[in-house]
Amino acid sequence: MSASVFFPLDKQQIVGVIGGGQLGRMLALAARRMGVRSVVWTGGLEAPAVEVADEVIDKPFDDPQALLDFCEKATVATVEFENIPLATMRGVAKKISLFPSPEAVGICQNREKEKNFLRENGIPCTNFWVIETLEDLTAAMAELNGPGVLKTAAFGYDGKGQLKIEGDENPVDVWENFGKERAVLEAWVPFDKEISVMVVRSADGEVRTYDPAENRHRKHILDVSIVPARISPETSDNARKIATQVAEALDYQGILGVEFFVNHDGSLVVNEMAPRPHNSGHHTLDACACSQFEQQLRVVLGLPLGSAKLVSPCVMLNLLGDFWTSETTPPDWTPLLETEGATLHLYGKRRAIGMRKMGHATLLGVDALAKAEALKAGWL
Ligand code: AMP
Repeated sequence: MSASVFFPLDKQQIVGVIGGGQLGRMLALAARRMGVRSVVWTGGLEAPAVEVADEVIDKPFDDPQALLDFCEKATVATVEFENIPLATMRGVAKKISLFPSPEAVGICQNREKEKNFLRENGIPCTNFWVIETLEDLTAAMAELNGPGVLKTAAFGYDGKGQLKIEGDENPVDVWENFGKERAVLEAWVPFDKEISVMVVRSADGEVRTYDPAENRHRKHILDVSIVPARISPETSDNARKIATQVAEALDYQGILGVEFFVNHDGSLVVNEMAPRPHNSGHHTLDACACSQFEQQLRVVLGLPLGSAKLVSPCVMLNLLGDFWTSETTPPDWTPLLETEGATLHLYGKRRAIGMRKMGHATLLGVDALAKAEALKAGWL
């Protein structure tokens, strides 16, 4: 496919996005900027992408008619959310090209498959045990002999479906508290930092990596990403190398987030992968030559990859629901709007419930972290 994909209009590609969250919204906005139409399949949820997509299919992801409509309207497709039923992704991929492939997303959406994939490919990851029964848990806890975290095998994100253990508990109680679901027990990593690398891989195997982001969390939710991460050049190069290795081993096509723990000696272990644009890549909208969303569209449309170069140091601050003074009252944005090098991104969500991701801010410059901390302190 050549770059003439944009013209003439009657032959234009229409990008189908499975999922209608803020990532779908930012994909649709990037598409609009490039003159590309989008159709968003929301899964029947309240969806931030609805107000910016050209067309919307507001039906559950297991609705067979919705699948037919989606494939009729879209000429190519991508996902903005990994917890899409595998059967739906396979159904779509039979009719139109889907980037990344259902196989790659299928590995990343299930912790057990993800960990096995990492281990089988010799990629450093946390020590883990697959747990199906109380007997498995008892044996694994005995072998681990220390702190760990029990995580559901399927459909986990942002720390949901996780139980921290110290190691001296009775496995019977742990299994009961956890809900006896198929799980992975991971050894606890006393890490120094958490970082992530966004990597993009084209259909013909060209790879580009963005600078690693250093991620800090509040109540298990991403709070700030500091880019570039404050790590040694060796660790940074190693993270890019491992992210590339993951993308290649998955035969990945599109944008992928690879999350790491950085040990105190600078060595790395992969925590998990996100087969889509990622919250820790939002800085790329304002601080990089080509954003993670545009890169995804470029791969989906068969266009040349963009530059992943960081143009300015940046801090991305998530605007979480607890900054709101009531469910419907945002904080006073004046200090942010008056900050040089700051950009406000809001996702159009009507209600700020708990720690919901309502938007994010990017702050450019070497003093961005201090500015982000000052803004946060004013809102909390
Ligand atoms: P996850 O959903 O697997 O990314 O886990 C959410 C957060 O919990 C991570 O970002 C870490 O801060 C923490 N965490 C998860 N697994 C481990 C582990 N094995 N060791 C230490 N911290 C962990």
